[in-house]
Parts: sequence; structure tokens; C-alpha cells
Amino acid sequence: MAYRRRRRVYFKACVKCKLLVPLNAEVCPNCGGRDFSEDWTGMVVVFDVESSEVAKRLNITKPGRYAIKLGA
Ligand SMILES: [Zn+2]
Repeated sequence: MAYRRRRRVYFKACVKCKLLVPLNAEVCPNCGGRDFSEDWTGMVVVFDVESSEVAKRLNITKPGRYAIKLGA
């Protein structure tokens, strides 16, 4: 029996670029990836990639909402 942990999240994270997208999204608008994970922790919203230290650290190149970490 497949059991999926229910979490209070409204987003899933793109496995490739960590962009957070709505749960019903099929394709990542950022990188075009189709692999997503609902098991992510920490959210960072990047507005200005150039001046964001977090963006640099996470290798984020486009503004958006990102997960800091994927997996448990
Ligand atoms: Zn992506």
C-alpha cells in the first residue's frame, strides 16, 4: 500500500533548480524539468538575483520562490 506523508505544503520543488511551483504544475517554468519533490525544507524568495547572497549560494539565476533543501 502506497502511503504518502501529508504535509502542510502548497508547493513542490523542482529537483533540478529547486524552484517552488504549485502542486498541479507539470513543467518547471524555470528549467523545463518534469521531476518534482514535495519533500523540501526552507523557502527563499529571490527578487534580485544580482544582489542576493542566498541566490549566489544556491546558484539561483532567476527571481522566484525556491526551496533551500530537498529531501529529508
Ligand atoms: Zn526547475
